[in-house]
Amino acid sequence: VPHVVTENCRDCKFTSCVRVCPVDCFSEDDRMLYIDPTHCIDCRACIQECPVHAIYPHKELPAHLRRWIAINEEMTRSGKTTPVRAAKPALPGAEERKRALGFESADPRRFYP
Ligand code: SF4
Ligand code: SF4
Repeated sequence: VPHVVTENCRDCKFTSCVRVCPVDCFSEDDRMLYIDPTHCIDCRACIQECPVHAIYPHKELPAHLRRWIAINEEMTRSGKTTPVRAAKPALPGAEERKRALGFESADPRRFYP
């Protein structure tokens, strides 16, 4: 199982993850992005780019987020999502949502080892 987008991405779409993905494996619905597990090469590049820590390698997924493996798979396979190949403006309210999630200040990279 490759990398997985989880619930913090909802209503955000900062899409900084898209900018660094070498294989274009992100796609979106109206609320968030998902990773196509058949394309992700597990390069880890996107993890540090996400300002709300929504992306995990599957092996590091906390137990309460494991259901997102199936959701990413299902959403990208079902044709309910559209590929996103270039970064674009975040959704309205994304900054507020980021603050509400506790990622208000400083460099999000401080959350990563
Ligand atoms: S940067 Fe994070 S929150 Fe924003 S679109 Fe990518 S995965 Fe979602
Ligand atoms: S781990 Fe690499 S290949 Fe997979 S989604 Fe992130 S940037 Fe793309």
